[in-house]
Amino acid sequence: MTDVVALTRGLVGLDTVGKAESEALKLLAPLLEQAGFTVMISEHEPRRGTLVAEWHTGLDVPPLCLSGHLDTVPLGSARWEHDPSGDLDGDRLYGRGASDMKGGVAAIVLAATRIAAATPTRAGLRLVLTAAEETGSLGARHVAGSLLEGPSGPLVIAEPTGNAVVHGHKGALWLEALATGVTAHGSMPSLGDNAIYKLVRAVSRFEEYRFEAGPHPIMGAPTLNVGTIQGGLNTNSVPDRAVATVDIRTITGQDHREVEASLSRAAGPDVRLRPLVDLPPVWTDPEDEWARSVREIVRQVTGRADEPRAATYFTDASVLTPALGSVPTVICGPGEADQAHVTDEWCSVTKLAESVEIFERICADWCGI
Ligand SMILES: [Zn+2]
Repeated sequence: MTDVVALTRGLVGLDTVGKAESEALKLLAPLLEQAGFTVMISEHEPRRGTLVAEWHTGLDVPPLCLSGHLDTVPLGSARWEHDPSGDLDGDRLYGRGASDMKGGVAAIVLAATRIAAATPTRAGLRLVLTAAEETGSLGARHVAGSLLEGPSGPLVIAEPTGNAVVHGHKGALWLEALATGVTAHGSMPSLGDNAIYKLVRAVSRFEEYRFEAGPHPIMGAPTLNVGTIQGGLNTNSVPDRAVATVDIRTITGQDHREVEASLSRAAGPDVRLRPLVDLPPVWTDPEDEWARSVREIVRQVTGRADEPRAATYFTDASVLTPALGSVPTVICGPGEADQAHVTDEWCSVTKLAESVEIFERICADWCGI
């Protein structure tokens, strides 16, 4: 039996920067199969596999689901002081993906294999280890339409939280705003129809736009930002095309189709909106019975009782939570949120071991062991 540090180092040593997640699954699938899990792997493109592993899912109570992603972002252009493929220094394990989130994946897999030595009296387990989270949850979407069948219990996402319990995160709705017009010679603008003027009027209305949804007590208020604007090809023509992109971060209770329709009315008839990214918000009431039980387990293992909080980043839960039937969801993993995507990314070895124990207890509690 391997330990969590060795398994994390094994995963961090594999280059899965937007590719080759299937190589990581070659390390993990045998561990799960030997422990008694039924393992299914589906690739959304060659060598980019997402794994779904199931154990005793046929019991009366639906299985607990644990999930993490196997891809990472690139190393960046700055030089690393530590070997990005798994340098150990004191309590720190360095490497791309140590915090975000190969440490979390290793902790899930080890906890699951340990639990599988027992016989559950109440419910089983389902693991979802995804490809291509960083580029829009493509792996999660891929299995949501195929391998994720049957009822599900709650979902744990092991993204980096320093082992604190996070109850959700904002949604992301990215829109393209397109205005079209009629081109003409720049010296005779009256013969044309200027697309830039139309788009700029809409963008000004976006700046004034106020959401109907009030601030959420923990997530805060929804936000809107116009991030890019492009239009026209040359100075001496009337532009017939102008495009802006808009980044909207939504809170629980906001429906993305309604937000889009409301913004479309605000933009006016000259501008067409089209979604580019559409990831709904995720939120589980801190008073939810299961979420409370998770917080209590974390308090027992870590000695810390954190206030309920929301993450600043979004996760595969935007896809998996609705796919599993809007199940209660928490985000809790051994990585440090502020280490995601940075140079010299590290994860605490102590928190890795803590995380295995947290997941084991959450599983034992749900499965009746
Ligand atoms: Zn992540």
